[in-house]
Amino acid sequence: MLGRKELELKEKAELISDTLEGLLGVPSRDGGGDVLECLILTILSQNTTDVNRDKGYAELKDRLPTWEDVLHADVKTIEAAIRLAGLGNQKSHTIKKFLSWLKTEHSELSLEFMHDMETEAALELLCQHKGIGIKTACVTLSFACGREVFPVDTHILRISKRLGLIPSNCSAEKAHQELLPIVPVGKAYPFHMNLIYFGRQICNARKPLCERCPLTQHCLYYRDNLQT
Ligand code: SF4
Repeated sequence: MLGRKELELKEKAELISDTLEGLLGVPSRDGGGDVLECLILTILSQNTTDVNRDKGYAELKDRLPTWEDVLHADVKTIEAAIRLAGLGNQKSHTIKKFLSWLKTEHSELSLEFMHDMETEAALELLCQHKGIGIKTACVTLSFACGREVFPVDTHILRISKRLGLIPSNCSAEKAHQELLPIVPVGKAYPFHMNLIYFGRQICNARKPLCERCPLTQHCLYYRDNLQT
C-alpha cells in the first residue's frame, strides 16, 4: 500500500502525464516485433543516438544476417560491424555472451518465450547478464512485450528530478524502482515516450525552455531558479 507521500507523488505524476498528453498526444505502441531483435537494438542504443544505433544495427545485419552468424562470429568481427553505434568492444561482448547463453539454455536464438513469463521474472532473467541493465531490460519488455514497465533514460531522470517526482540525488537505477509505483495505471508507455519527447524539445538539459512549459506549477527547478 502506498504511503501519503507516494499518493501525493502519484497524483502529481498523473497531472503531469495528463498535461503532457494534452500537449503531445497519446503515443501508441507499435506491434511489438521480435523480442531478441528489440533487445539487441536496445543494447546498441546504449550511450548513443537512435541514428547511430540504427546504422550499427543495419551494418550488423548486412555483415552477419542471422543470429546464428552473430553467435559464430568472433567478437572482433561483431565489434567492427557495430562500430557506428559506439562502445563496440563492450557491446560486442555483451551480444556474443548473451547469444551463447541463449543457445545453451534455450536451444534456439529466440526470446519469444518471454511473452509467457511474469514481468518480474523476465526482468530478472535479462538483468543477470553483464551489459544488460534495468533500463535495457525495461525497454525490451515495454516495446517488444507490451509490459507495464517504465524505462528511465537520461531525459526522464532529469525531468523527474526537476519536477520533484524523485530526489535530486536519485540514481538512474533507483529511479526505476521509485517511478514505476507512481506512474498512472496503463500509462507507462505513453508517459515514457512523452517525457522523452518533452525532454528533447522543451525541458532540455542545458537550457530548459521554461517559458514554453505547461508544467511550471509542478516544477521545483522552476520554483527554485526562475519564479519571481
Ligand atoms: S518548468 Fe522548466 S525545468 Fe521545469 S519541467 Fe518545465 S521546462 Fe523543465
